[in-house]
Amino acid sequence: MDFATRLALIGWGAMILADFASEEIKAEILPKVVKGDTKLSFSLTEPGSGSDAASLQTRARRDGDDYVITGQKLYSSGAHAPNNMIVLAARTNPDVKKHAGISLFLVPNDLPGITINRLDVVGRRILGLCEIFLDEVRLPKRMLIGEENSGWSYINKHLERERILLAANYLGNARAAVDDAIRYAGERKQFGKPIAEFQAIAHMLSDMSTDVEAARWITASTAWRYDQGMPCVKQACMAKLFVSEMFVRVTTQGMQILGGAGYTHDHDMQRYWRDARNATIGGGTSQIQRSLIARELGL
Ligand SMILES: Cc1cc2nc3c(=O)[nH]c(=O)nc-3n(C[C@H](O)[C@H](O)[C@H](O)COP(=O)(O)OP(=O)(O)OC[C@H]3O[C@@H](n4cnc5c(N)ncnc54)[C@H](O)[C@@H]3O)c2cc1C
Repeated sequence: MDFATRLALIGWGAMILADFASEEIKAEILPKVVKGDTKLSFSLTEPGSGSDAASLQTRARRDGDDYVITGQKLYSSGAHAPNNMIVLAARTNPDVKKHAGISLFLVPNDLPGITINRLDVVGRRILGLCEIFLDEVRLPKRMLIGEENSGWSYINKHLERERILLAANYLGNARAAVDDAIRYAGERKQFGKPIAEFQAIAHMLSDMSTDVEAARWITASTAWRYDQGMPCVKQACMAKLFVSEMFVRVTTQGMQILGGAGYTHDHDMQRYWRDARNATIGGGTSQIQRSLIARELGL
């Protein structure tokens, strides 16, 4: 598993636990995550709730010292992996506004009543994308993360950080794609010279490199703001929006530069291009990022 995926996998669940879980859960789980013995995933999305995530319907009800969870989750990255624990959002109070009745739970993925299927997807196959069915899954109440019905505030905090993490992930992949395109254009000869010497190709590579450099700065400055504890909801959305769309742009251009070779599985470019297609969707679509930025602008 590549470094970016490991980082993302750790980031998705572990930071939520570090911030909000009980001391008991932190002491029990986080050392195993650091050692790689336990993996974490994050399940918010459902068939009926994607962009409108807070309208989720998976239900968790108290029964003695347990919660009993029933519902369905969709597009959960990495949830099928052995020794995976799912940071799962469920509705604990259906009688209040949708944002107010959500809680987070830490759910081992092999509990009785859980069925996980891997989906057949276009890209990011290394990580895997899953649907999860939960049928009366019994979970001890100590696996509740933080306070009951406070889940939405934890999710918001998490999504802000995830946007910065995703921007860094896409940036690294885009940079690798551009490096590959530059290398290929220097080696591939047509009309008796490297294709990099054709202005049409050289300018494309210049645009791609400029795009990556701009993405590097917006990612670094947003990560710095976050690190300083400064407000960065707007900046995190901008970073996710800009870098994900940049990733799509440069990999589309990379595919063009590699010509027919890019369309084969002999080169990595097709993988970058397929992976990029998700970047403007997963972690909140570009449309949602723009709406959040507009809200931060007071529009
Ligand atoms: C590869 C991948 C990995 C993922 N990993 C995870 C994960 O680990 N955990 C998890 O919980 N989820 C995960 N997701 C789910 C992801 O967050 C959702 O797919 C995403 O939020 C969009 O939801 P949706 O697919 O239901 O699309 P929808 O919400 O149905 O949106 C469809 C289209 O309508 C647009 N749209 C919707 N509402 C509005 C609006 N108000 N204004 C303008 N346009 C709008 C969207 O932008 C989009 O273009 C993953 C998805 C993918 C593809």
